[in-house]
Amino acid sequence: MIKRKRYIFTGIVQGVGFRPFIHRVAKEHSLSGFVQNRSDGVVVEVEGSVEALDDFIREVISRPPPLADISRFSQMEVDVLQDDEFRIITSRKGDRGEVHIAPDIAVCDECLHELFSPPDRRYLYPFINCTNCGPRLTIIRGVPYDRENTSMACFPLCPECEREYENPHDRRFHAEPTACPVCGPSLSFLDSEGNVVSTKNPVREAKDALLRGDVIAVKGLGGYHLAVDATDDIAVIRLRNRKYREAKPLAIMVKDVEHASMIAHVGQKEKDLLLSRERPIVLAKKKENTKISPHVAPGMAHFGIMLPYTPLHHMLMDERFFALVMTSANHKDEPICIANREAVSRLRGIADFFLVHNRDILVRCDDSIAMIAAGKSRVLRRSRGLSPKPVVLGESYPEILALGPQIKSTVCIVKKDCAFLSPHIGDMETPQARDFFHESVSVLQTISECAPKVIACDLHPGYYSSRVSRGMSNHIIIPVQHHHAHVVSCMAENALSGKVIGLAMDGTGYGTDGQVWGGEFLVADEREFERAGHIRYYLLPGGEAAIREPWRIAVSLLQEAYGGAWREVAERLDLIPEKRHYEIFDRVMKLKINSPYASSLGRIFDAVAAIMGLRRHVSFEGQAAMELEAIAVKDTDVDLPFGLFEKEGLLLLDLIPSIRELTEAFLRRVPAEEIAFAFHQTLRRAFIVATETLREKTGLHRVVLSGGCFQNRVLLEGCVMDLEDAGFEVYSHSLVPTNDGGISLGQAVCAGARIKRGV
Ligand code: ZN
Ligand code: ZN
Ligand code: FE
Repeated sequence: MIKRKRYIFTGIVQGVGFRPFIHRVAKEHSLSGFVQNRSDGVVVEVEGSVEALDDFIREVISRPPPLADISRFSQMEVDVLQDDEFRIITSRKGDRGEVHIAPDIAVCDECLHELFSPPDRRYLYPFINCTNCGPRLTIIRGVPYDRENTSMACFPLCPECEREYENPHDRRFHAEPTACPVCGPSLSFLDSEGNVVSTKNPVREAKDALLRGDVIAVKGLGGYHLAVDATDDIAVIRLRNRKYREAKPLAIMVKDVEHASMIAHVGQKEKDLLLSRERPIVLAKKKENTKISPHVAPGMAHFGIMLPYTPLHHMLMDERFFALVMTSANHKDEPICIANREAVSRLRGIADFFLVHNRDILVRCDDSIAMIAAGKSRVLRRSRGLSPKPVVLGESYPEILALGPQIKSTVCIVKKDCAFLSPHIGDMETPQARDFFHESVSVLQTISECAPKVIACDLHPGYYSSRVSRGMSNHIIIPVQHHHAHVVSCMAENALSGKVIGLAMDGTGYGTDGQVWGGEFLVADEREFERAGHIRYYLLPGGEAAIREPWRIAVSLLQEAYGGAWREVAERLDLIPEKRHYEIFDRVMKLKINSPYASSLGRIFDAVAAIMGLRRHVSFEGQAAMELEAIAVKDTDVDLPFGLFEKEGLLLLDLIPSIRELTEAFLRRVPAEEIAFAFHQTLRRAFIVATETLREKTGLHRVVLSGGCFQNRVLLEGCVMDLEDAGFEVYSHSLVPTNDGGISLGQAVCAGARIKRGV
């Protein structure tokens, strides 16, 4: 009995060797028919005996190719056509897209083997790739994912590559970016002015320059890196000075996990993460006395380490380098450079040489960052290797575009049960970053093939994205409160629905009362929230300026703690840079000039670091808090009290008693390591007491942890442990960042839930 069936597969099923795989399985079971890439998925029709058809689908579902991710498939019986063979037919563009573009994937072992085998025709060819590896998102211009819709369109295949491309049994069958030295892109080496340096071996030139201590701009998958020898103090300092990057940690690349283990504590889970095909930068605890320059990550507990992920990286990382600094090539607050001419002009004065190629990068994509905490991997920046793989939601929503927050920004499109997040955009402080924001929206619309009419944005009226939303007159605009978005983003990635207790602890976000929130206890579902409690307000003197100068926040907290005696304490702490600041401060605080109320936990971390003399000025957001975490290593008897009380139904957590006590301890010369440890312990205790109080009030036992403060591993691991011990179901971030990089997902799902239920 002969039957014919039609299947439509959706998910990551294009550009990952899915058609050759289908072709092979169909042939194995002597089925005729066809497979075709379309915008609505991969369509397969197979004809044969009933048993063969059953075997076919069983095999497809159970053993898809390594990079494929079938999110859904449909099947129906159709009329028998009596085809005599199984064919792969050319793509056609349909009306609605259901095809997901794969992220960029690290070079696979087979390609790597060929890269370093002298007889291979791609020996030392830095653009080697196959269906199982190589660039995807970053070379895409449109869908369907075919060579003519990528930046490889201008490289016609040579006869030999063509043969591989057409051969269903070849690893490069329909590998869209496939290339060889005859037909593909090539490298060149440029001087600081962008003039081509005549050489047969650009990679060797680059390596020699690195050994001399030069700064090299290297074109990668999603943008340029700036590279220097990570063991060379002078080179690292030179890079910092030229980039005006005072202290922010720099990522490093090492050859393999053995090298990573020499500089950091790399457990099995860190190893797996380093070696994963997404190849993120992995934050791993530093070892003492390594070869790495102390200027790479000053004051930090961790190194950000990654392994080579492009063939070019493997060629660069030879035995002469122990490690390279590989940091995004950009100016402060500007997006990563991608075009050759752009790089030469924007990196003038920074890079001594450029190692470039002529395959265009069409989508900017920074390196992703991840860490292991509480036994799970946690993405802290979701970009190359991860974007645009969707986060699969617990239910379907109408199409929504979420514009994200102001810093660590991403944008997100929700379509049905898939949330597509853009690569990391960054802080929207420069015109270039704003251009990148618009670019990211249009990339997402292209790859998700929709242009949502519902727009979610932050409640903050001053955010760039909120201003953009006000200009979108024929759209429905749904503002979402920042900390509610944090909680919903964590719910979304955990496919949670219904009411939860949400702890949103972060830097700053605009509250419904117009004040600066950031230490929030919410009772929330996807649609709505109630502010059940928060860290007791304190004044944030000078508003935004306080973020860069944490000593101002410290003074504000000391005033609360000591009243009129604050001056004396501040003097003993040597907290205030100049005498005249005392008078100014008194006035500012009395008259509350430009001083909103804040409940931010992040800013309290900053203040504690300032009180302890760790840092009075910060050069990047979160720096003081990260340094405090780095030294919180020493167990102690120091016990910091806190207050928890209810006022008009609102739970208020008062950390001023802790501030007073830790100041006393510091003045008693208790070691900073002990005080920092005690402060973390205090937060754990305070959170558990507050959360238990809310459980009694609401009967809820699911707790969601979100916000940038939970990047702090000491705090996250402590809270997860305490809350689980107390019988809570605890949910934290893993797939999307707990920082503001996850906000767009929360905004989108919140808006989607409101639209769905007619709000
Ligand atoms: Zn490969
Ligand atoms: Zn070729
Ligand atoms: Fe936030």
